[in-house]
This record gives sequence, C-alpha cells and structure tokens, in this order.
Amino acid sequence: MAMMYISHDIAVIAEVAQRIGVVYAGNLVEFGDTLTIFPRPAHPNTIALMSAFPSLEGEQRRLRGPLGEPPDPLRPPSGYRFHPRCAFATQVCTAQMPPYEEIEPDHFVACWHPQPRRS
Ligand code: SF4
Repeated sequence: MAMMYISHDIAVIAEVAQRIGVVYAGNLVEFGDTLTIFPRPAHPNTIALMSAFPSLEGEQRRLRGPLGEPPDPLRPPSGYRFHPRCAFATQVCTAQMPPYEEIEPDHFVACWHPQPRRS
C-alpha cells in the first residue's frame, strides 16, 4: 500500500514519508529518498523551505523562507517560475526550464544551478 501526504510542513513530511517530491508552481522540482534529500537538499526552493522551520535540537538560527511572493498562476514568470524568488537565478533561469536530472542515486533535481551537496 502507498499513501501520498501533501503538506507545506516539510518537517512533518520528513517524519512520515520515505520519499519526498517538492513541487513549486505545479512543477516537481526535487524528488527522491527522504534520507538523501534531507541532509543534502539541492534545489533552492527545497533549501528555502527547510530554512523556514526551526530545529528543535540544533543551534538557534534566523528562520528564512523563499524570497517574495508566489507567482500569479494566470501570469506566471517567464522561463523557470521560481526565478523571481531565487537567490541563485541567472539569465538562463529567466528564459528556459531546466532539465530534470539525477544528481546522485535516487535524487532528482530540476535546476540550472543545483546547490553543493552537504552532509
Ligand atoms: S533553475 Fe535557476 S531560478 Fe530555478 S531554482 Fe535553479 S537557480 Fe533558481
């Protein structure tokens, strides 16, 4: 049996899901095994979501989320829809959707500039 759990609370997802799919403006932007993505998120939106929740056990830090506001679905931005909110966006992001690539086993990301992996 499989269950799909949909939430904005990525901390809860980490507790209940074996696999995670992060969606932005209707596009799947990162997907893979929970134990792979949580220590090493690569998509800027996933990183921003994780930065928006406090750690109950780790050090205190300033909470951050994605910049700005979600796009108007009737008039989405050109190129990759996340680019107005992304701190890593470049010219290519405003023009084209990135390819969906496997950056490590069972870890897929759609981003022109996936962030360095951390462990
Ligand atoms: S493709 Fe560009 S805008 Fe989209 S998440 Fe990656 S760096 Fe940011």
